[in-house]
Amino acid sequence: MQSDPLATLNWLVEAGADEAIAEAPVNRLAAAAAPAATMPARPVPPRPAPAAKPGKSAPAPVDVDTVGTAQALAAAANTLAELRAAMEGFDGCALKHTATSTVFADGTEQAPVMLIGEAPGRDEDRVGKPFVGRAGQLLDKMLASIGLDRAANAYITNVINWRPPNNRDPSPEEAAQCLPFLRRHIELARPRIIILLGAVAARHVVGKTDGIMKLRGHWMDYRVGDQMVPLMPTLHPAYLLRQPAHKKLAWRDLQAVRARLESLS
Ligand code: URA
Repeated sequence: MQSDPLATLNWLVEAGADEAIAEAPVNRLAAAAAPAATMPARPVPPRPAPAAKPGKSAPAPVDVDTVGTAQALAAAANTLAELRAAMEGFDGCALKHTATSTVFADGTEQAPVMLIGEAPGRDEDRVGKPFVGRAGQLLDKMLASIGLDRAANAYITNVINWRPPNNRDPSPEEAAQCLPFLRRHIELARPRIIILLGAVAARHVVGKTDGIMKLRGHWMDYRVGDQMVPLMPTLHPAYLLRQPAHKKLAWRDLQAVRARLESLS
């Protein structure tokens, strides 16, 4: 796999390589003689907890009927086009009724790398494709830095295919209704590697609640149908837009993906 030097440079600039990170300049030549100054950590604002619904303390039970319908529809699809049509005809997820589009996928079917995000946002709902807003533009730069491009060798989807109102986190019930489609999606697309973007996707796809900072950078084996697909959890580009200092962590994860892809080919 060829990596484009310009794309790598763009990514490094995105990662903050051209930004001053301290208040005062540091003489690196003198640093060898004197003990290095420690940088004050940047404060990370806590993420607000999702608002509890009045009168509800426990999550709603998963409706097995709609999950069963999703499973039957997904299993009956033998191509990605059939799967898309099955999802467009599925009315079991309430999110569909507030969304404008069913956001199925974008990129190259049967690409070696499949990326799975969380759920469509406003731009994706309007356009009907995943990752077309600011986070999508950053994702494209991240992919380009390791020689991937949705038009050639990357395929992108989400755990949830309809935009949650106000971009709230999808509920476990909504995820359970979409997961049969996602699993069939993976079976039909047959990626060689999956990149899982962010904590919400990790929670629903691999059932891990450890926190993305702990999960990221560690390969997992994801079994779907008769396939065992290596899966790399990493940071979500929307998170990286808020916390650019963490782009270096995503960069390391992408390097691991690139090395694994090279070893597979
Ligand atoms: N964030 C996601 O997780 N998916 C999208 O499609 C867009 C933003």
